[in-house]
Amino acid sequence: MVRTLQQLESFIKLSKQEREWFEIQGDKLPLLVSRYYLSLIDPNDPLDPIRRQVIPSIEELSPSIEEEKDPLAEVAHSIHPRLIHRYKNRVALLVSDLCATYCRHCFRRRFTATEERQISAEEVKAISEYLKSQPEVREILLTGGDPLTLSDHNLKELLVSLYTARSDLTVRLCTRIPVTYPQRVTPALVAMLKEVRGGPIYLMTQFNHPRELTKESIEAINLFVDNGFPALNQAVLLKGVNDSVEVLEELMNSLLFNRIKPYYLFQGDLVEGTKHLRVPLQEGLILEKELRQRLSGLAMPTYAVDLPGGGGKVVLTHNYLLGIEEEALIFEGPQGGQVEYPNG
Ligand SMILES: *Cc1c(COP(=O)(O)O)cnc(C)c1O
Ligand code: SF4
Repeated sequence: MVRTLQQLESFIKLSKQEREWFEIQGDKLPLLVSRYYLSLIDPNDPLDPIRRQVIPSIEELSPSIEEEKDPLAEVAHSIHPRLIHRYKNRVALLVSDLCATYCRHCFRRRFTATEERQISAEEVKAISEYLKSQPEVREILLTGGDPLTLSDHNLKELLVSLYTARSDLTVRLCTRIPVTYPQRVTPALVAMLKEVRGGPIYLMTQFNHPRELTKESIEAINLFVDNGFPALNQAVLLKGVNDSVEVLEELMNSLLFNRIKPYYLFQGDLVEGTKHLRVPLQEGLILEKELRQRLSGLAMPTYAVDLPGGGGKVVLTHNYLLGIEEEALIFEGPQGGQVEYPNG
C-alpha cells in the first residue's frame, strides 16, 4: 500500500499540481493506493485515466460554491450514524470508513477515511433490531468505505446477525476491491459468503475504465459469479477518465463479456473538491444518447444522478417523447425523424 509522497515518487514523477496537494495541510481525503492498482498506471502518461482516479491534485483543495461535504444529505436521512434509510424498501449500511484505495472522486468523503473505523458488535446488534421493526425494508446495501476491508471473520459475524434478524433480506455487497485490490478476493472469502448467505448476495462494483479489467480482477469476479453471486457495475462518469463514447462503449462491452452487468453510470455528485473530475450533465446526456445507439440493451447502463439535497436518484436519458397529442404521441425515432404512436 502506498501512502506517502516518498513512496509514490519512487513509482511515478508527479506533476506540479499533484505535488502541490502534498504541500497543503488540512482536512483532506488521504492518499492510499494499492501497489497492484498503482501498477496499472502508465508512469510516462501524465493524463493516464487510472492515475486521475487515485493521485490527488491541488484542484481538490479549492471547492467550488455549488459543492458540499454531504451533497446527498445522507446525514439527515440517517436513522443511525451508519444507516441511511432514504428509500422505504432499502437501506445502506456504512460498514467501515476504510477502502483498499481511495478514489479522488469519492462522493462519501464526509465519512471515508475518517475516524469511524469498522462497525462494532453493539452497532450490528442495534441495526439488526431496527431491521426487525422495518418489514418493508427488503434490501440492504453493505457499503462504506469498503465492506471488504473487514476480515472474513468480522464480515461473517455481520452477515449472521443480519440474517438472524431478517432471513428475507437481499444483500448488496458494494465494493471496489475487485478493481483496486483483487488479491483480497480469495476462495476462503467466497466460501464463507456461500456458507452464511440466507438469500441472494449481489456484488456491486465500480469499474470506470476498460484497462481496469485485468486478469486479476476478472479472476476475482469469476470467483463470485461461479459461486452464484451475480455481479453488477456502477461506473462513475469522470472527466479525463471515461468521458468519451469510445471508452464507455469498450468498458460496457468488456464488463458484459466478463459477466458483469452494467447497472448504473453515475453523474458525478456535487461533492467538495471534485469539479475537475465532473462532466457537465448536458455533455453526459449526449454521451448517453450516442452510447445507447452503439450498445445492446444488455450492455447499456442507466445514466442517473443523485439529486443534491437528498432528493434521491433520477434517471437521465435523452428524451425521445417529443409531445403528447389527443390522437397520438410523437417520438423522435432512434435513427432520427418523427414517428407517431396512436393514443388510445
Ligand atoms: C443509491 C442508493 C440506494 C440504492 O438505490 P438503487 O436505485 O436501488 O440502486 C439505496 N439507498 C441509498 C441511500 C442510496 O443512495
Ligand atoms: S471505493 Fe468507494 S468509498 Fe472508497 S474511496 Fe472509492 S468511491 Fe469512496
